[in-house]
Amino acid sequence: MRESRDAAARVNSDVRPSVRPHVHGRTVDDQTRCVHYATPVDVIAIRFACCDRYYPCHACHEEAESHPVVRRPRTEWEAPGILCGVCGTELSVTAYRDADSCPVCAADFNPRCRLHWGLYFDE
Ligand SMILES: [Zn+2]
Ligand SMILES: [Zn+2]
Ligand SMILES: [Zn+2]
Repeated sequence: MRESRDAAARVNSDVRPSVRPHVHGRTVDDQTRCVHYATPVDVIAIRFACCDRYYPCHACHEEAESHPVVRRPRTEWEAPGILCGVCGTELSVTAYRDADSCPVCAADFNPRCRLHWGLYFDE
């Protein structure tokens, strides 16, 4: 029993990045929730293609930046573009869009985010 628990702990520490990217904007906790979206499942931040900064949402970006959002082009969807606020893993846009929950820590993602994908990703 102990052996398998140790193995699991090792896996977890391997996938946990040592330096978590900074999340800009009006965050309210360290899991990327913000003043605009703070339900239990609001646990991702988006890396915006225009400024290469992570924000929890489009409203946070608009309040902090003076430039319009550049939606991430499809050619860059394989690059890290989404941060899971629960485990700190960076996911590709493609991996995020294919998942209902974090593939690493299993945290549920907000299904309503899909309604806003057009704001972030050049579909
Ligand atoms: Zn920007
Ligand atoms: Zn926000
Ligand atoms: Zn996660």
